[in-house]
Amino acid sequence: MAPTRKGFDCAALEDPAVHLSLVSTNDQGGGSAAVTVTEQTPGSTAGGQLDPNEALMQFLYRAPIGLLQIQADGVIEMINPMSARLLMPLSSNGSLDNLFDVLGTVAPQLRQMVLAFNEASGSICDAMRVETPASGDDNRPLQVLSVSLLKLDESRLMAMVNDVTSEALREQSVLNARLGEAARLDKVTRMPNRTSLREFVERAIERQGEDPSRQFSVLFMNCDRFRQINDSLGHAAGDQVLAQIARRLQTIVHPSDGEDFGRGSERMAGRLGSDEFVVVLCDANSESGVCAVAQNILDALSLPYRVQDRESRLSVSMGIVLVAASNQDADTVLQEASIAMVEAKRSGGARFVRFEPSMHERAARRGELENDLHRAIVERQFFVVYQPVVALQQAGDEACRPPYSAGVEALVRWHHPVRGVVPPVEFVGVAEECGAIGALGEFVLSTACHQFVAWQTELGRTAPRLLAVNLSRAQLNDDGFVAMVSRLLKQSGMPPRQLQLEVTESLAAQDESVRAKLRELKALGITLALDDFGTGYSSLSSLHQLPVDTVKIDRSFVCEAVTSPHHRVLIEATVRVAASLSMGTVAEGVETDAQANVVRSLGCEKGQGYLFSKPLRAEDLAAWLSNSDQ
Ligand code: C2E
Ligand code: CA
Ligand code: CA
Repeated sequence: MAPTRKGFDCAALEDPAVHLSLVSTNDQGGGSAAVTVTEQTPGSTAGGQLDPNEALMQFLYRAPIGLLQIQADGVIEMINPMSARLLMPLSSNGSLDNLFDVLGTVAPQLRQMVLAFNEASGSICDAMRVETPASGDDNRPLQVLSVSLLKLDESRLMAMVNDVTSEALREQSVLNARLGEAARLDKVTRMPNRTSLREFVERAIERQGEDPSRQFSVLFMNCDRFRQINDSLGHAAGDQVLAQIARRLQTIVHPSDGEDFGRGSERMAGRLGSDEFVVVLCDANSESGVCAVAQNILDALSLPYRVQDRESRLSVSMGIVLVAASNQDADTVLQEASIAMVEAKRSGGARFVRFEPSMHERAARRGELENDLHRAIVERQFFVVYQPVVALQQAGDEACRPPYSAGVEALVRWHHPVRGVVPPVEFVGVAEECGAIGALGEFVLSTACHQFVAWQTELGRTAPRLLAVNLSRAQLNDDGFVAMVSRLLKQSGMPPRQLQLEVTESLAAQDESVRAKLRELKALGITLALDDFGTGYSSLSSLHQLPVDTVKIDRSFVCEAVTSPHHRVLIEATVRVAASLSMGTVAEGVETDAQANVVRSLGCEKGQGYLFSKPLRAEDLAAWLSNSDQ
């Protein structure tokens, strides 16, 4: 006889004054169990003796955990009051006949799990979380149960049901707090991240809306050449530098705040991502106050960073927006600050620049330029011109125009479909920044090498003897660069000893990894020239450390050479130091006979400049060479 449990009195079961015992009565082969509930006064056991079985029953009955014995198909044979209390709200028809039916909507997989369990006995599931969502219809709160199923033998299972709602809620709130915190914190520096910074700026804008006299300012920083640190020391070292930057910013922006980075205060320093940081100042109202903080930051960030027992230096470009009463949003403010930062970078970096509305237009033009550049590479709009580099010393005393070209320098040009021929100063830097320089540099090198080889057969004795090609920093940072040069040499048949790659002082003087790359290039048999010498920061005394074969003295020295004794002394010293290191010298930008005479008399080996020839297209160079040969 199947017992009916429809009117199961859960309240009575929970009443500690009511002592209940549980008895399993076997059905006579019908498959259903029966539960008998008897009420007893606590302690008053039959005959005054506490039967051990009875004691166990009472113990199970009072257990603060739901216990059930069920058949393999889920039919409940025995159930204690806690189970009934926990499961009853889940029962769609108010009955507790079959555990799988009761849990059918929240844990439909249980039945299948039991069927799939092939062992004779053992744990089928352990503390499986089952969630009953809160329901407004019957005022039911969210409830989370933990259900364990243990197979006792072929036909019986034990189920344990536990209310873990408060535990689950606690876990959830800890998780939420952690997620909330993580969502606002930058992992590397533990500073506020983009989300936090945006919110801080939004709050500042709101407060300004309430009180228009509340100016605030946003300082947007991007590290100059941070990639070099990553490339030469590795990303872990890069992260350490970022963390040191964060600490330095913190010290300046909020000296008394410890590691708090200004949360909840008038200032905030945070990291936007990669090598970009932002400082928001709500308490520095005057422009001079903001500039003072900006300069402090630049000074502090330019001090050496000690990572992996080595010192690295970096500088920072900063854009500043002073937000006076406006109806801008946070993104616009940050964007304007970043536009000013780009201006700071383009002016040479290591400085701050204040945002001006006209910068918008320039930024838009630049974006356009980047797009055009990418298209230009695909559509092959670039071409190469060649400027002769002539020998100065063989010419005899009077002649300023030497009889033959010692070599040529390949210079790239862009034939823009609308703007016409665009000079490299207008796009090489942008190409470096937007990642187009790799393809552009490869095009120039390949074109120039093929052209050089073609001249050898076409022109014979008068063909240029050396091909100089400019190299940009970003190309050297590319891991596959040396292999690419080697491949191009082979493909074009270019003799390596006749190729000279030109690098700027600042590039060649860089860390060991750059110099190692340069040595790898030299190992291919090619030579290196130091371009624009005198404009960078390496001095004559460090020339011996650079793996170069030729020094190109910058045009700014050459054009002063006639009038300025000081510049003449510098040129002469350069020539002597270079000669002592067995390096050749080229005077760049020679425009007049007088300049040519001076640099020749100072011992410069070669000259390059409009006096001899402007950069020429390949076909025009052949004509120039045959003219100068006469
Ligand atoms: P650079 O390497 O110093 O090249 C010499 C620049 O000075 C060339 O300008 C040349 O036309 C110019 N020049 C030569 N003689 C005279 C002179 O007598 N007077 C004056 N005023 N200028 C003279 P260009 O072709 O506009 O190139 C400018 C810079 O762009 C180059 O300076 C170089 O740094 C870069 N560049 C050019 N082509 C490439 C390239 O293929 N790759 C890379 N990475 N950079 C390139
Ligand atoms: Ca050059
Ligand atoms: Ca140069």
